[in-house]
Amino acid sequence: MTGQTAALVTGAASGIGKCVVERFAADDRHDVVACIDIDPAVTEVADELGAGVRAYECSVTDYDAVGAVVEQVEANAALQSVVNNAGTSRYAWIGDLDPEEWHEILDVNLTGQYNVAHHATPPMFEREEGYLVNVSSGAGQHGSASGGVHYSAAKAGVLGLTKGLAKQLAPHVRVNCVVPGLIDTPLTTDSGLWDEDAIAAFEDDLPLGRVGDPDEVARVIEFCCGPGAAYVTGSVLNVDGGGALS
Ligand code: NAD
Repeated sequence: MTGQTAALVTGAASGIGKCVVERFAADDRHDVVACIDIDPAVTEVADELGAGVRAYECSVTDYDAVGAVVEQVEANAALQSVVNNAGTSRYAWIGDLDPEEWHEILDVNLTGQYNVAHHATPPMFEREEGYLVNVSSGAGQHGSASGGVHYSAAKAGVLGLTKGLAKQLAPHVRVNCVVPGLIDTPLTTDSGLWDEDAIAAFEDDLPLGRVGDPDEVARVIEFCCGPGAAYVTGSVLNVDGGGALS
């Protein structure tokens, strides 16, 4: 080990994950920022941000591939911050939700977070230092009209995963969960899950009256990965414009 430190961000090619990587690249807290995404665009993100930011094109559902990434990163730098952000959502009426679709959404949104936590957190625990942030969704707290029940179930699982890990990894690794509300990312705008009228109606009911910007979520994730969060673990932080109030 070289004395260098690293961050690992999944779902780093787009939206919230990309904003987290940009913040880590700028804040100088880590020497290496490892970016995992299934989308080849992750390489462009890393290239744009320059030295220290490295792309790994793989799926969080691939247990061995995730392990190999963690091993490569840890060979040169000690992981300090890990952000379990990769996710995908689709709508399916329960009667049409076949087992394949169910498992696919559970695999990406929940098992993917286990894969990363399993490989990445034991070294942090041994070094007695580290931060893990799991990204859930309001769908996991109160269901969702736009996402399927598989997405809600997976995101509720993330809350349980967070609480369990926070207890297991205490007092060395802080484990927290960030819960975005409706955020302006491709997941919302390009997925066909939300049309303009539905977004306008949603904003009308929301205390802060607007959809969130992905960097507004990223800055809370960044906070959870630093000394400001020294006494925060097992917490669920909603970043949702007041959506959790209704
Ligand atoms: P996004 O689509 O912009 O980004 C998600 C990224 O995850 C993409 O780059 C995608 O390629 C990647 N990804 C998908 N499957 C993957 C896999 N198997 N392995 C590795 N990478 C994979 O969406 P976003 O809004 O930035 O979503 C980030 C997180 O926030 C997700 O967990 C999502 O469920 C959660 N979230 C988003 C919203 C929202 O309104 N945008 C609301 C609640 C929760």
